Order: sequence, then C-alpha cells, then structure tokens
Amino acid sequence: MARRAAAYQREHPDVRLLRLGVGDVKGPLAPAVVEAMAAAVAELGRAETFRGYGPEQGYLFLREAMAREDFQARGAEIGPEEICVSDGAKSDCGNIGDLFAPESRVAVCDPVYPAYVDAAVLAGRAGTYDPATGRWSGLVYLPCRPEDGFMPRPPEEPVDLVWLCSPNNPTGGAATRGQLQAWVDYANDCGAVLLFDAAYEAFLDGTDRPRSIFEVPGARRCAIEFRSFSKTAGFTGVRCGAVAIPSELVREGQSLLSLWRRRQSVRYNGNSYIAQRGAAAAYTPEGRRQVRANVAACRRAARLLLEGAEAAGLTAYGGTCAPYVWARVPAGMTSWSFFDLLLREAGVVATPGSGFGPGGEGYIRFSAFGGEETVRAAVERLRRL
Ligand code: PLP
Repeated sequence: MARRAAAYQREHPDVRLLRLGVGDVKGPLAPAVVEAMAAAVAELGRAETFRGYGPEQGYLFLREAMAREDFQARGAEIGPEEICVSDGAKSDCGNIGDLFAPESRVAVCDPVYPAYVDAAVLAGRAGTYDPATGRWSGLVYLPCRPEDGFMPRPPEEPVDLVWLCSPNNPTGGAATRGQLQAWVDYANDCGAVLLFDAAYEAFLDGTDRPRSIFEVPGARRCAIEFRSFSKTAGFTGVRCGAVAIPSELVREGQSLLSLWRRRQSVRYNGNSYIAQRGAAAAYTPEGRRQVRANVAACRRAARLLLEGAEAAGLTAYGGTCAPYVWARVPAGMTSWSFFDLLLREAGVVATPGSGFGPGGEGYIRFSAFGGEETVRAAVERLRRL
C-alpha cells in the first residue's frame, strides 16, 4: 500500500496526497510528559542520581500508577505486582507465545491486526498458508460480523489461546460487557487463555464499554492484558507498554505471571527509565488532562471521518470508540480496486481491508491519526468522488 502510494506520488508530484492509511500518531507529546522525560535525562546526567539497569518488570512508580488508574479506579482488581512494563505492546504480543506449548491452538479474529498471526507463524503454530483462501491451516478464524459490532463470538470448539482486541484495529469496533463476559465464560469453561489487546482503550473514555478485560468477573482466571502508551499518550516513538497477568492465572500447574517474569528477566533488561518517567507523567492531573485532550482531538477527527464516509455514500463502521473507520467498498469492487480508485481519483490513501485477513476483503480502513485538517480535506474529496 505504501509502495503503491509512493509510486503514484512519484508519477504525480503535484498531487497533495491525503494519508488516511497511517497507524501512527501525529504528536507532539504532552508537555507534562516532555518535562518528566527531560527531568529524567538530567537525573541520569548527574553522578548522585544516575541509574543503570532498572527492574526488568518496570519501576514501581509506574506500575503503581497503572494499577491504581488503569485498573483499580475502574473496578478491576490488578495490583502493581501483576503488571510488567515493556517497550510496547507489539513486542509483548509476540513474546507472550513463549509461555505456551508449541502445539497450542490459536484463534484470531478475521479481520485481524496482523501481528498476532505473524507471531503464531514465527512460533510454528500457524500451519501452512493457503493462497487461495488467505488462511493458515493451524489457526482458528473467528468471523467478525457487522451485526455483532465486528466482535467475534466464541467458537464451538475449544482452543488454547484467543486474541481479542478492543477497541479494534482494523474495524474500530469495541466489545460490550456482555460480549467480553461470553468470552470469559468460554475461556473458563474450556481452559483457553484470552490475550486481550487494550492498545486503544483510551478511545473508550466516557463510554460504557470495558476498558480492561479485568472489569469482567472471572477474567482473573483466564486473561492476559496488553497495554500501550503509543495511542494513549503518543509514545509510538518513545516506546512504553505493559502486560497485566493476574496471579490466579495458572495453566498446567504453572503461574503464567511467574513464567512471564522469568522469561523477561532472561531475555530483557527493562524499558528505559526516561520512557517510564514520561509514561508515569501521563497519570498526573496535568498529564492526564493533556493526553486526554490529544485523544479527544483524534476522536473528533474519527467522528468526522465516519460522518464524511457515510455522506459519501459508503456503509461505514467504527469511528466513535477508535481512531479507525471501517467502510464497505462499493458493490463490484475489491479492497484493492477501491484503494486504487481513491488514490487515483481523490488522492486519498487508505488501507485495503484484505491486508487484515480474508474477512477484510470488501472493506477499506481509514485512519484519523492524520488529524482534523487532513480528515476534513479527505472527506471533501470523497464527497466529490
Ligand atoms: N496492538 C494493536 C492493535 C495495534 O494497532 C498496535 C499498533 O498499531 C499495537 C498493538 C502496537 O503497539 P505498540 O506501539 O505499543 O507496540
């Protein structure tokens, strides 16, 4: 997609491309975060306050802030000792597979954030790829339907690991409490572990959707949650995330929290002190106000995008609880042919839904991360097209 857009731009240098394909934030960082990181750098620059290796699981000041604000304040019972800080959700989503047997059966949504599939492929759990269907023989695909808000239903068969992502990339859907309860009940019934990616939870501010799987009764026995400061506080370049694993989560007699701590202390030396100080600043009253304002601006742009796509005649979803709008392509077109049409006729770059798995064919993803001005201009071009 990026290559096609770049080739088109080379051929048409005068066209101002409007990029709605980006999954990256635009910045800048919140001033409270910048101040905290600058202070941390100054500390490291003085012999009396210098710090070398930190705790592999992250500094307590950050884990305490996360436990209090991200979990306990929302009625989710997670303590600082159950949180392990990292350099971001992508590494954690890839690395978590180390805790499970190679033959573990993995279920993924369809469409899906591709990193979960890639991690299963790298671990040898995905079987073989069939180019005709776009599917891996070893994976269980969970269809995501518009009538369910693109959240999957538990399958009939038992599986070992289930990837869930709410708010969802790419569909922009967000799970209801009832949907998550159904998953928790399923997992506790069959022994599956839910791998819950909450990277976009900040976009649920002010809604009644759970921002953590641990808000759902029974989740402490069956779930692991991945958190990220990337989309919440603009940390895509700074890097900071965390995994929450309840002490009650035990499989084959082993505490997964202990196993994960062991894995991290063998393979990881902890995230940077500077990044962790920056992340902790997002929980101060000032920092919270600033990062919320950034997320709110992105949500406004997403809402404009949704309304603009609908006004242009597309059937569109998402855009209220996530930075993404997921739209059906016009009848008779594929994800890629619509991508090309948007590029050539409107100078708008989006992401073809088929890149997110076979269930994404027939859809296109628009991202609001480019900001309100880009979105307004793109929506006007869509309307004209
Ligand atoms: N999870 C989802 C669903 C994402 O969309 C992304 C990034 O786009 C990530 C995780 C990666 O987050 P991080 O930047 O913390 O590695």
